[in-house]
Amino acid sequence: MTVTTRAAKISLQVEGMDCASCATKIETALHRIDGVTDVAVSVPRGTVTVLHDGKEIDDRVRKQISDLGYQVTRLEAVSGDGPKDNRVDGKPPHEESHSHIDERAAPGQRWWQTRKGMLTIASGAALAIAFLVGKAVPATEQWAFLLAMMVGLIPIARRSLSAARAGMPFSIEMLMTIAAVGAIIIGAAEEAAAVVFLFLIGELLEGVAANRARASIQDLTKLIPKTARLEDNGQVSEVQADTLAVGAIIQIRPGDRISADGVIVSGESSIDEAPVTGESTPIRKGPEEIVFAGTVNGDGLLRVRVTAAASDNTIARVVRLVEEAQESKAPTERFIDRFSRYYTPGVVAVAALVAFVPPLLFGGGWSGWIYKGLAILLIGCPCALVISTPAAIAASLSAGARRGLLMKGGAVLEQIGKITVACFDKTGTLTVGKPQVTDIISFGRNEADVLRFAAALEAGSSHPLAKAILRKAGERQLSLPPTSDANAIGGVGVRAVVEGIEVFVGSPKAAGERAPMTSEQSSQVSALNHEGKTVSIVVAGHEVAGAIAMRDELRPDARAGLKALTEVGIKAVLLTGDNRRTANAIGEQLGIEVQSELLPEDKQRIVGQFQKEGWLVAKIGDGINDAPALAAADVGIAMGGGADVALETADAAILHGRVLDVAAMVDLSKRTMINIRQNIAVALGLKAVFLVTTVIGVTGLWPAILADTGATVLVTLNALRLLKVAEN
Ligand code: ADP
Ligand code: MG
Repeated sequence: MTVTTRAAKISLQVEGMDCASCATKIETALHRIDGVTDVAVSVPRGTVTVLHDGKEIDDRVRKQISDLGYQVTRLEAVSGDGPKDNRVDGKPPHEESHSHIDERAAPGQRWWQTRKGMLTIASGAALAIAFLVGKAVPATEQWAFLLAMMVGLIPIARRSLSAARAGMPFSIEMLMTIAAVGAIIIGAAEEAAAVVFLFLIGELLEGVAANRARASIQDLTKLIPKTARLEDNGQVSEVQADTLAVGAIIQIRPGDRISADGVIVSGESSIDEAPVTGESTPIRKGPEEIVFAGTVNGDGLLRVRVTAAASDNTIARVVRLVEEAQESKAPTERFIDRFSRYYTPGVVAVAALVAFVPPLLFGGGWSGWIYKGLAILLIGCPCALVISTPAAIAASLSAGARRGLLMKGGAVLEQIGKITVACFDKTGTLTVGKPQVTDIISFGRNEADVLRFAAALEAGSSHPLAKAILRKAGERQLSLPPTSDANAIGGVGVRAVVEGIEVFVGSPKAAGERAPMTSEQSSQVSALNHEGKTVSIVVAGHEVAGAIAMRDELRPDARAGLKALTEVGIKAVLLTGDNRRTANAIGEQLGIEVQSELLPEDKQRIVGQFQKEGWLVAKIGDGINDAPALAAADVGIAMGGGADVALETADAAILHGRVLDVAAMVDLSKRTMINIRQNIAVALGLKAVFLVTTVIGVTGLWPAILADTGATVLVTLNALRLLKVAEN
């Protein structure tokens, strides 16, 4: 490795970050350290990555983080890296990711083992002791409560000072500290101690929803068996599943869980994918079909060729994706963050007015109004508000993923519920994507030549039609002639030179430009199109050699899935490169609008047109030659059967190719947004109520903080309802 920069990186594992504001706090504070160039905080993974210019700053980073009240459990310094490793993307390096998953999957610390938990317990115990001491020796009561309060307040006050030094004077901790100290000064020590304790409870609860959501997705990794039965020279031996290399052959006995993603080499069995994808009916699978790590083999012995290393299998990718998604902020969350920035100082101002104006200007009693002012400070704690959105989003993202609906972040989750038009690709999206060759028609050449030429051209192609043609050629055991100069033309077909002549296979329209068809040939092709078959024409040299017709079954729930969308007011459109007659035949069966004979760029253009007309567009496709349209849409949803889904290119993915899942995503999004609105209403509503009762003197200090702790509980419970859906 060459040392190209002096830049260095520190990776830390940090405990105790479980709210959205934690990340901002740490980022802001670390940026203040001289030499730090970039900071990335991942709350879900509990990691902080710091890029710096190579000076010795480990200790200062460690100190800054612990001053803010978090615990650094691991620090790893990497200096003088190549530029590639210097990405601050919060992601652990690839080879690390697997061990990282293991770490998370292990039963972690219980809440009472964390520093926060211990502090809360200590503070509660001190409060109870102070209460008893006060009862026994009433004269010492004030002092006892003062000491009890200190137990909880000292760490909070220290955090508030570090935050203030790092440029955040209006932290929640600062509000707490002022309120508690103020309460002592006006002689309300008992209440001050209770307030600190309640605040700690609230803080402890803040992370519950997000942690549960994270645990729910982490649970997936527990589905993968630790060991696998590896075949080697006819011998079978038990090995660690995470040592399996791509290409290894493993045996899976009936009833066993599959230990790696792979392709069946031999055997046939029904496979229960419920734990991984939520698909409840077992699926019959045989040779060449894909199986996923974590699914359960039913009744047959399978031999499987491993296609992904443990750190890269579908479950690992899903977990990684969901964790990343939970890190990215939803627009609503950003809004709330901005809002709290003004809200907290605003409350401080109001509290000051209430405390000082009446006594100064209207002759009010000092201690009564200061008491009210302090209570208002506590009402300024925006804890419940800050978690209102991320808690719901984290729960929904996990719940979705557990049933095969992947969304790459809060922003996508918010957006999906607002779409007004859904543009569907045909092959592999509304259809199963496994076309079968039904007819081979010879025009200029005999049948065997037509298939042989076509298959030779398609040999390198991953298009579903190509696979169908290759399968057919395989069945007939044709030997394929070599090709040269091959190139695929997206949405059109493939051309190459075979046996010295230029051969083309592809859409009738494109074929017509190379060699015109006779009217008799055209009408034969039309007849096949009317049956809903896709026809690709083979042109050899300047003559039409023949045609291959293929039929692709519609997905069983295609019609129902589209209907579910129209029922909620979303327009569904089919955009396809296929021939007009075939497309119309299919559109009629499905009852949706059709635009056909489109090139990939046409699909993209149509998406853009919809957007210009004010529609919010979702594009649903398999990613094979419709990637531009997927990218152009407001939401691009990849549809597929697991491993090969274009997870990387789309905003969202439907893992097991159910058309109904598009509507399910829309529904999940809408329910999430309702949940978020409820959370915000609870968080702010309780504040409003207690603001009024405080000013008119009905409630005092501890109900003010209880309002926030209570709201945190309600918000958490409400958000967890979203997670429930997936678990039953
Ligand atoms: P869809 O919109 O259904 O995804 P495509 O855009 O992939 O369809 O392809 C449009 C048409 O172009 C197909 O119906 C087919 O006639 C032709 N075509 C494209 N690629 C190939 C190929 N590899 N082999 C044969 N025909 C192809
Ligand atoms: Mg396609």
